Amino acid sequence: MTETLIGKRVDVLDKGWIELVDLMPHPSTDISGDLAIVNAARVSFLGESKGSDRDKKLLFYLLRHRHTSPFEMVELKFRVRAPLVTWWQWVRHRTWNMNAQSGRYTPFEENDFYVPDVWRRQSKDNKQASEGQVTDADGEALTAELLAHYEASFQHYQNALDKGVSKEMARLFLPGFSVYYTWVTKIDAHNLMHFLRLRMAEDAQYEIRVYAQAIYEHFFKQALPWTAEAFEQYILNPSE
Ligand SMILES: Cc1cc2nc3c(=O)[nH]c(=O)nc-3n(C[C@H](O)[C@H](O)[C@H](O)COP(=O)(O)OP(=O)(O)OC[C@H]3O[C@@H](n4cnc5c(N)ncnc54)[C@H](O)[C@@H]3O)c2cc1C
Repeated sequence: MTETLIGKRVDVLDKGWIELVDLMPHPSTDISGDLAIVNAARVSFLGESKGSDRDKKLLFYLLRHRHTSPFEMVELKFRVRAPLVTWWQWVRHRTWNMNAQSGRYTPFEENDFYVPDVWRRQSKDNKQASEGQVTDADGEALTAELLAHYEASFQHYQNALDKGVSKEMARLFLPGFSVYYTWVTKIDAHNLMHFLRLRMAEDAQYEIRVYAQAIYEHFFKQALPWTAEAFEQYILNPSE
């Protein structure tokens, strides 16, 4: 099943996406990610698979007791296209390796901006969060204003480029948080679970939460079904 995961792309937000570029262990090895974790743990006493029931039990034991280093033996590499507001929060997670598009090298396109579906209201209890949404009429007016703002910004940007200004400076005219960016990024399963726990949570901003959910639902669960089950049991919904 993991064979088809490499190259799979899932759309996120209005113009974003996330694509799995590579996986370790690679599906061609016929060793699943879950088994790679179990095998790494068994190196402690120089053994390997003992049949799927005992293997799964061991994997659950490892996560339950936070014996996390075997989970670092699985790596996932993605290409991501997301607005800068998402990128800004993502890069705070130092355990991702990254290489990003350069706005000094590649010019931005006219439609490289995030347009939200709805306008969320400021939360009354949490100064950092949003709740509910503005009226439909206000939403429509705000979207029209945003599109006009993008158009004007892009014209300023293009005008500066036409006057010979460098791309690294012309981009000062672009609406920073909304610009779509593309990057390639890699992480191991242990640190990915940490990222997912924080960024799938209700208090994470919607624009990063949908990317974390896409990773979990479309890639993590398929690549690591036992680990996903244990993750839900011991980390997302711990009962002890
Ligand atoms: C809901 C939410 C709100 C947030 N609000 C803000 C905010 O208002 N302002 C703000 O600045 N940030 C904010 N953040 C970012 C937050 O403070 C963290 O920087 C971010 O979540 C990354 O977490 P991390 O350091 O655990 O992850 P990673 O950087 O992926 O690190 C994973 C783990 O590795 C270890 N580690 C990695 N690097 C080091 C290191 N150099 N030294 C010691 N240990 C290390 C730590 O144990 C760490 O938990 C927010 C995050 C969330 C989820």
